[in-house]
Amino acid sequence: MHRHAAFIVGVMGISLTLGCAAETGTAEALEESTDAFSTTPGEPNHEEITSTALSFLKPEVIKALMIGNVSTDAEFHFSNAAHFDDCNFSGGAAFVAKQQAEAVKALGPGIAQLDGDVLAVLAFSRSLHAVQDFYAHSNWVELGGDVLVDQSLTAFPALRPYSAVPSTGFIVVQGPKPRGAAVTRDDDAPYPEYAIVTIRERRTTAFGLVSGTVDYEPGDFCPPPVAMTHDELSKDKTSLTDRVEQHLAAKSLAIRQTRHEWCRLNQLAHDAWGDAGTARLAAWVADPSSAPDCTAE
Ligand SMILES: [Zn+2]
Repeated sequence: MHRHAAFIVGVMGISLTLGCAAETGTAEALEESTDAFSTTPGEPNHEEITSTALSFLKPEVIKALMIGNVSTDAEFHFSNAAHFDDCNFSGGAAFVAKQQAEAVKALGPGIAQLDGDVLAVLAFSRSLHAVQDFYAHSNWVELGGDVLVDQSLTAFPALRPYSAVPSTGFIVVQGPKPRGAAVTRDDDAPYPEYAIVTIRERRTTAFGLVSGTVDYEPGDFCPPPVAMTHDELSKDKTSLTDRVEQHLAAKSLAIRQTRHEWCRLNQLAHDAWGDAGTARLAAWVADPSSAPDCTAE
């Protein structure tokens, strides 16, 4: 394990250094964490999700996106927001929106084109890491969620505590429950039943969206009665043999969400910079015929 997780990437003909955020003292934590994330040796899930979803991009862009994506685990090792852990859904959503806003900014006229492309790839790759983790680290799949968390083409939505996610009606369980509400789950049930959280308020019952807790990431927003650890809830690798089906479902949703994020990035770039913005992104594409039809997705 490298003390400084540094990666040199050739992207669009120039060199890019990603990493070096891991300072002295985090090396042990990084080593401990190697099995806590989906990108385990021999099972490069984030890489596969990214390259499958965005196979129409140029190989060097896909490679840079994969490396930037995976480096998020080192760069944002202690950030529950970057991985949608600890029921920090509003933080995760804000992380996605912020990274994509940075990507869009980098595609504008203020930054030299090659530098801007590198910055945009890196910021976009970090947003992809988070949306991919969303499905692997939350109980979306166990609740029966088989649609994307968001399919809009505006900035990634806020996912405010105790709001309903429009696509499924799941309630974001984050922080102390509202007065008068009951948030419950059956801790003694077998998997996947124990991951089903319900929230009852004023005679209406809905499913509650939670994610697993991670000790070394500060800030835990999961209400104690329904909290589950990362290990109890994550489905980020096939070696978790009791939840292969859920792993595959989460991976499939992550691929679809990643593809959708390409459409969102194009729309946001167009909103900000007009055709010049989308032209910058079109230069990343190798095979337009297999790119998503963003007006239909
Ligand atoms: Zn992660």
